[in-house]
Amino acid sequence: MSQPPASSGAVHAEYDIIIAGAGSAGCVLARRLAEDRELSVLLIEAGGPEEHLAEVREARDWATQLGGPLDWQEVYAPSESVGGRSIPIPRGRVVGGSSSINAMLWYRGHPDDYDAWEAAGATGWNYGSLLPYFKRSEDWMGGESDTRGAGGPMRIEVSPDPHPVAESLLSGAEELGLPVIGDANGISNEGACLANFNATTQDGTLQRWSAARGYLRPAAAWPNLTVHTDAEVTELTFESGRCTGLVVHHDGSRRTLRASRGVVLTLGALGTPRLLMRSGIGPADQLAAVGTTPLLDLPGVGENFQDHPLLMGMNFRLREPRGPLRDNGGGAMLNWRSSVADHRPDLHAFVVQGVHAGPGVASRYGVEHADERICAISPGLMRSQSIGQLRLLSAGGDLEIQPNYLAEPADMTALIEGIDTVLELAQTQGYRQLIEGPVSPSQRLSRREAEQFVRLSCDTFFHCCGSAKMGTDAMAVVDPRLMVHGTERLWVADASVIPVIPTCNIQAPVIAVAERAAVLIHEELAR
Ligand SMILES: Cc1cc2nc3c(=O)[nH]c(=O)nc-3n(C[C@H](O)[C@H](O)[C@H](O)COP(=O)(O)OP(=O)(O)OC[C@H]3O[C@@H](n4cnc5c(N)ncnc54)[C@H](O)[C@@H]3O)c2cc1C
Repeated sequence: MSQPPASSGAVHAEYDIIIAGAGSAGCVLARRLAEDRELSVLLIEAGGPEEHLAEVREARDWATQLGGPLDWQEVYAPSESVGGRSIPIPRGRVVGGSSSINAMLWYRGHPDDYDAWEAAGATGWNYGSLLPYFKRSEDWMGGESDTRGAGGPMRIEVSPDPHPVAESLLSGAEELGLPVIGDANGISNEGACLANFNATTQDGTLQRWSAARGYLRPAAAWPNLTVHTDAEVTELTFESGRCTGLVVHHDGSRRTLRASRGVVLTLGALGTPRLLMRSGIGPADQLAAVGTTPLLDLPGVGENFQDHPLLMGMNFRLREPRGPLRDNGGGAMLNWRSSVADHRPDLHAFVVQGVHAGPGVASRYGVEHADERICAISPGLMRSQSIGQLRLLSAGGDLEIQPNYLAEPADMTALIEGIDTVLELAQTQGYRQLIEGPVSPSQRLSRREAEQFVRLSCDTFFHCCGSAKMGTDAMAVVDPRLMVHGTERLWVADASVIPVIPTCNIQAPVIAVAERAAVLIHEELAR
């Protein structure tokens, strides 16, 4: 498709449906809702088009975008549990949203992750009800099966030529008695496997397959779909509880656009609660305290915020220079259980073909980012129990974002066990051929030292969610049909609605939620 979706047509004053945010979820909603050619759909995005950007396309360059112009450059509030550090939390500000800057890992976690949503009050949301949407979204290179989909918008592949540090994760895991599995998105996710990427290998390199590429580009020429880029939504408009549209800023001008049949929020787990609160929907006392007139007291907006902790710091010295980056710079992952896990793997590790260290670890251990003889194996906790929150600091939308990493002692216990297992992995036969020894940490650690290392290296896994959770209790923001409680014709359909963080990278679950949201919205419009 030669026409970039971003320039698709003049922006009118009224549409049937307006979708705010062209990220992972927004691209799905725009495409699926516009498949009804009778419906006029406007998709609004604060960032610009991405189709022409090589840094978006080339999978191995993904990390170079962090902190750059395609990133909102948000920051977590400091906390004692991570040594008082302020951790940057990247979010895509571009068509495709975070799916245009992310690491392209495509992973669903464990089936019980979704049954936990129903148990938390999201009636009708469980693995069985989401599986058709997981399948519908993907075009898995291995073809259709009971668990995998083929022919969907998102192309999913594994590397044809993984880096040796990725291959060794499989043999290393086997040596430690952990299973090697063919497909982490199949029946069982426990064990080591090559990563699934939402990307395709072309001309010898891996190229990103974002939600924009998969869902939006094929619809770019549809006359009933308009994409409005470089346009920031700042407020929702209401008449008697019904959402009638929104206010958008573009090119120095402010405009109110009407949505005759409804508005869908897909601004992500930071952007959606921010817009709700700026529009007067949220904890009334908190809004009033910053000078925003409360319209609807919904105490759950901004609460229940979740993200997985990732240790950005286990680096190893290689015997030889590692060579050019392959794929996304990683390529394999391992899922296993700590002593505090239930029946599901809670720990996850992936390989990095290079240095993986924040400033604290780099300076404490003298790790040089340009060092060609370093690789990393990074453990993270996919079943973290610590819950954070967002607070509105100003009527203009400034947020305090606090993930509360390591607030629950069980999270610390699991991560310390993760460090031990990764050090053992690096000593397995397969890795011994590649790795000379550990750099950071430089040796096995006592419990006290390990705790310090966790606090020093704990970083984001980029999996923000839960800040406008779906459910029926007093803290729920949307109902199980994804409509904001106490309003009409206002839906949320992005990572915010996830009630309990799944044990995986969350892009595939967000896209499945958006696929199902489109069906629910079509049903509502047909009533
Ligand atoms: C660096 C990074 C690496 C990651 N790696 C992986 C990975 O490998 N695998 C994985 O599964 N997940 C990964 N994730 C997480 C995953 O990409 C996100 O969870 C997912 O994309 C969230 O989708 P979303 O639709 O909720 O939000 P987003 O995709 O972030 O979309 C929100 C969109 O709304 C727009 N927006 C926000 N506010 C406004 C406003 N006021 N007006 C107009 N537009 C606005 C944003 O610009 C953005 O385009 C990563 C994320 C990041 C940032």
